[in-house]
Amino acid sequence: MNNWDVIVIGGGIIGLSLAIELRKKGAGVLVVERGEPVREASHAAGGMLVDCSAETPEALQALAVASARLYPEFVYELQVESGLFVDLRDQGTIVFPPPERVHKRPGFTAADLAKLLPAPLAELEPALADFNRPAFYLKERSVDPRAISAAALGTAKRRGVDISSGDEVTAVNVSDDKVSGVTTKKTSFRATKVVNCAGAWSGKIAPHAFPTRPVKGQMLCLVSPSRNLLKHVIRSPEAYLIPRSDGRILVGATVEEAGFDKRTDVATIQRLHHAAIALIPELRNARILEDWAGLRPGTPDALPILGATATPGYYVATGHFRDGILLAPITAQVMAEVITGSPCSRDLKPFSPARFTL
Ligand SMILES: Cc1cc2nc3c(=O)[nH]c(=O)nc-3n(C[C@H](O)[C@H](O)[C@H](O)COP(=O)(O)OP(=O)(O)OC[C@H]3O[C@@H](n4cnc5c(N)ncnc54)[C@H](O)[C@@H]3O)c2cc1C
Repeated sequence: MNNWDVIVIGGGIIGLSLAIELRKKGAGVLVVERGEPVREASHAAGGMLVDCSAETPEALQALAVASARLYPEFVYELQVESGLFVDLRDQGTIVFPPPERVHKRPGFTAADLAKLLPAPLAELEPALADFNRPAFYLKERSVDPRAISAAALGTAKRRGVDISSGDEVTAVNVSDDKVSGVTTKKTSFRATKVVNCAGAWSGKIAPHAFPTRPVKGQMLCLVSPSRNLLKHVIRSPEAYLIPRSDGRILVGATVEEAGFDKRTDVATIQRLHHAAIALIPELRNARILEDWAGLRPGTPDALPILGATATPGYYVATGHFRDGILLAPITAQVMAEVITGSPCSRDLKPFSPARFTL
């Protein structure tokens, strides 16, 4: 049986980004994945890189901004190493805030908001149905989560990360009060350090029942009648639209407490489709390419769980909820620091596993 320095449980964007970072620091790394890598939340995401203070929990703000800053370099490296294009777009986002937030808050009236647009709406997005709706602009990026996850997988393999797929971890092994490896449904693997990156399933692995839960999101993908129909990400209370450079437009997403059920339902997909058409009437002519649902890793306080657990050698990086694509680069950086015993460049106290009784 081989020995690794670190075993990463879960081959999503969080586990793979961390595995790459640990390899760069010279560690021998094994990723153990229950199914195929990058087929769960990281495959289902929209890919908005939201670091705006109005939409990110306050305690997460600094980490979100830091991760957004790391993104161009993160993408550059993954694209060069994997040879895959991940479609990082920086045209920005147009937000239509919920009506109850307009007029009530100082600085949030329709006239205030119009000043925050770099140009009139009709110039920014001529295909919009309504140019008079209060809107503001955010300079944020988007990325194709499937492409960046595939690029992370390619990069991890190229850098010599070992991957055991179709291999479900059932427990983290502890001997003499320290981690000694993992047991899977097929076998066991040895390592003195293990990190749980199992997303919505993180709480199912003994010995610590991290309080993660699945938060279902249904989405659909349209093929736009013309490639340049939409430039910006559009966020409205009814739906968000994320254009890709190849002409696809993603429409999302529900936020549902539905257990581990990943089925879509026709009525919900239709509602999202109609919301997209109400925003951009030309989408009436767009073909539905695909619909799907994924499970965001939620936590009781909507903050990730990052750091060392009470069991020496056992670490956790999970609970990234709606922001795991955004937070992958900073999570990889800080968790690699924690795991290799380097000074940590960020304050991880708000995300400590110790805030929960495990
Ligand atoms: C509809 C939707 C839209 C989203 N939009 C955005 C967005 O616009 N921007 C953004 O930043 N984020 C977005 N997210 C959130 C983002 O997708 C997640 O936060 C992120 O993918 C979490 O990554 P992860 O690696 O922790 O989890 P996952 O990608 O779910 O990976 C966890 C992996 O662990 C494996 N695993 C589980 N249990 C075990 C076990 N016992 N043994 C071995 N392996 C195991 C799973 O099979 C899986 O491959 C969205 C999510 C959804 C569902």
